[in-house]
This record gives sequence, C-alpha cells and structure tokens, in this order.
Amino acid sequence: MNSNEVDQPNVVVFDTTLRDGEQAPGCSMRKQTKLKVAHALDALGVDVMEAGFPAASPDDFAAVQLIASELSRPVICGLARATEADIEKAADALSPAQQRRIHIFLGSSPLHRRFKLKMSRDQVLERAVKAVEFAVATGAQVEFSPEDALRTEHDFLFELLDAVAAAGATTLNVADTVGYSTPVEIRQLFGRLHQRFAGRDIVLSTHCHNDLGLAVANSLAAVEAGARQVECTINGIGERAGNASLEEVVMALRTRADHFSVTTKVNTEQIIATSRLVQSAIGVPVQRNKAIVGRNAFAHEAGIHQHGMMTNPETYEIMKPEHVGLDRSEMVLGKHSGRHAVRQRLDMLGRGLPEEAFEALFVRFKTLADQGLEVTDDDLLELLGDGVATQQWQLDNVQLGYTAAQAIASVVLSDGTEKRLQAAFGSDAMEALVRAITTAFCLNPEGLEVRSQRVERDSENHAEAWVEFSLNNVCYKAFARGRDSVMAAGSAALRAVNRVVTEGLPNMRRPDQFQTSLSVGE
Ligand code: MN
Repeated sequence: MNSNEVDQPNVVVFDTTLRDGEQAPGCSMRKQTKLKVAHALDALGVDVMEAGFPAASPDDFAAVQLIASELSRPVICGLARATEADIEKAADALSPAQQRRIHIFLGSSPLHRRFKLKMSRDQVLERAVKAVEFAVATGAQVEFSPEDALRTEHDFLFELLDAVAAAGATTLNVADTVGYSTPVEIRQLFGRLHQRFAGRDIVLSTHCHNDLGLAVANSLAAVEAGARQVECTINGIGERAGNASLEEVVMALRTRADHFSVTTKVNTEQIIATSRLVQSAIGVPVQRNKAIVGRNAFAHEAGIHQHGMMTNPETYEIMKPEHVGLDRSEMVLGKHSGRHAVRQRLDMLGRGLPEEAFEALFVRFKTLADQGLEVTDDDLLELLGDGVATQQWQLDNVQLGYTAAQAIASVVLSDGTEKRLQAAFGSDAMEALVRAITTAFCLNPEGLEVRSQRVERDSENHAEAWVEFSLNNVCYKAFARGRDSVMAAGSAALRAVNRVVTEGLPNMRRPDQFQTSLSVGE
C-alpha cells in the first residue's frame, strides 16, 4: 500500500488463482496445495479470494471449505451457477468463513442465451434475480457476473444489472469472459455504468481474459472509468490465454499512482514469493520476460545498462525490485556484462579483488558467460575457487553408449562431499541420461517427458531441454541449456532432482538413506 496516498480510493483486489486460474489445463492443484497458495494470497493481502467452484466436484467443495475454515482475514468467495443447488453448495462450503461471498454467473450475451442456455432475455433476467435473492437469503455477500458481458447488448446488460442490484447483489462483475474487449470500449462501458450506479452501495468489478493480450490493459481502463474491483490471478494463469495478471495490475496501479489515483491493499513485497509458489504448485514456469515476475523483469544484463543502473537505478528501472520482494543480487550477469558489473557484484559478495587478480577472474568469467550461461553468485564464488557451492548435486562425469536398440548413460554425481555412480538405459541418449540421474536418487519418475531444441545463437550451437515427470502425483519440470541436447537434458534433470532433494517429497527417503547408489569416495 502507498501509505502516503491513503486518501485515494481503494481498488478491491479479487484473486481467482484458485478458481479461474486453477481450472485452466495443466494448472490444477490438490487441496493441500490450494491451502498453501491460499495462505500466500492472504499474506499478499488480497481482499477477496475466490477459493473454488464448490458444485464442480467434491474436491473443489472440500478445498473451499478447508480454506474458509483456515483463513480469517480475507473475504472467501465461492462460484455458483444461477441454480439453487449450486448456491446451496457454495453456501455450505463457505459456512466456516468469517466473511463469505457467493459469486453467481449467468450467460447474458445473445450467443450464450441462444446456444448455451436456450433462454430468452426475460428468462435470463428472471433466473438471475431468483438466484441472487436465494443467495442473499443465505446471509453471504452476493456478487453477480453476466457472463460474456462485453458481447451483451447494452440495453439488456443494464436491465440485468439493475435487476440483480435491486435483488441484493452488491458487486456487479462485468466479465469479458472471452477476452474480446478493447481498452477504449471497456472504458466507455464502465463510464456509463459508473454514472448509472453513482451514489449507490455497489462495487463495479472487471474480469478480463487475455485472448488478445489485453487483459491487464482492459482491467486498468475499467479502473480509469470507475471499476473498484479487479479480478485477477497470480502469473495471469486462467482459462485459455489466462486472466489479468494480479502482479501487473497491482504494480501498474502502484507505479503509476500519479495517473490512476487509486491504491490497493496488496503487500507488493510478497509478489515474487507468491508468484514462485504458484509456479511450483502447478509446475508451470512463467516466461522469462514476463512483466514483474519473469526472471528477466529486473535483469539488466547488457553492460551499458548495468553501468547506468549502478550510477542511478532510475536510468532503466521504473520500479524497485525490492518493492516486489526481489533481492537485487539476483541481477543477472552474462556475456554482455562488463567489468564494472562483475566488480560490483564481487564487492557486494565481500570479495573485492586487486586489479591483477580481478583481470584473471574476469577472463574466466567471460569464458563461462560466453557459453551462453548466466553466471550466478555461486558460479562467481566457484570461479574464485571458494568452492562454497551450493549443497546441490552436480554432474561430474557423463558417458554415453549405444546398443542396437537402446542408449545407455552412466553418470558420476557429486554434492561436494559424496559421489554417486549410476547407469541406466533409455530409448535415446537424453532419456538414458535423465534416467541415470533420477535412478541415482532412487526416484522412479512417472510420465517422463524429455524434449529439446537447438538454439542458434551468435553462431554457437546451443540446445535447450525440458524435462518433466511426476513423483507421488507432484509434477516436476525443469529447463536448462547446454552445449548439446543431451547435456541440456542432463542439466534439466539435475535441476528437477535437486528440487526434489531440497524440498523433499511425501514418502521420500532422505538423501542419507539412499541405498542403491554406489559410493565411490573422493
Ligand atoms: Mn473467467
């Protein structure tokens, strides 16, 4: 929150990561994972949390109920179709919550009325009003969403919203369900709604999808015209191209408070932690250049940028990384980084060097960076010979061989104190290597998928590889680059395995209990 701007109106942040986000393919979460994310959203300070769609499945019901009983600060919301059965389910699941909201949706556009609902305008109106009255009687706050509102005739949309407001809905969520609107169009619509409901105890809400990449722009345009609730998700996950991304909306409102003149109650310092939790909960990473939370969002690798940044960060930074909870030391060093950046990083690590020693280190740094790799603090310390590395396991040696039908890989892995030797077969060298690495830790991955692609960059042939598998129903994905696809796949597998070793898995033996690997002493 911008404490110096408390007199500015507040925009309610309605998070639907656990509902709209979770229902997207590849983003489903189990109950305990949802609870973990819910706690993170609570710490983040969202006002309303849509915890699920209780009538959708017994699992969804149980997750909403669990979140409603565990969290006390935010309003907990459950989605319901405009039927008594759905509303009763939602009310039941929400009953342990301190503050409950039932979110009712019903198609309003001609397409939805005709082809999905087979209902006339009057029938839609009547069903909506009955549903809202029924929900109000449960004692919960009631939010109503005309589904596909942005493709609904304005006269009917207004008639419908008037009617549900009269029936007791206090939040009117004008949903751009299919991501069709544009900023100018949605600003005009919210301008008219704002006038229509002025002076009444009604919150106008926006719910935008990103099919045309406009979800955040449209949400902000709605806020400009008077919307006081934004529905959004962490990392922008959600149906199809996703929902408006919470972190982008919130940071736009904060960074350009001069323009929007509103505030939110979000603790922006929690953004990175929440984003990373959601990425690992669903096993779907955000793209590197994703605004606010992508790994490159605050990285200024190019030497000339880094020099400017060090003189005054505002030369290239409109937001401070600390404001989203990012440690400045995560600034990336790479092949474009100059002496200045490397020297500063060493100083920051308390390892400043005399000129000659620095030059020698810089040459080794460039050699490493020229392989197309990022150079982390740990890498730098390793170059210095500190060997502090990382308790993590690394690939010491790889050998590949082939039989008529299969490939075989043998690996030597070490974590600095212990070595493991393991061999495994696979249908190709990439799979054999990945299997050797996972087998060294007694892991038996299910649904193993290994993909790679060549990357032509600066006349060097690099490869990128993705490794994906699940263990005890938890999905692990990792990505890495390497000098060829096999080595990239090996690095990716090692990253995934390191995650398993660091975080542990239910029913997993601790690393010191692994038995089948062969110790081959130092
Ligand atoms: Mn949606």
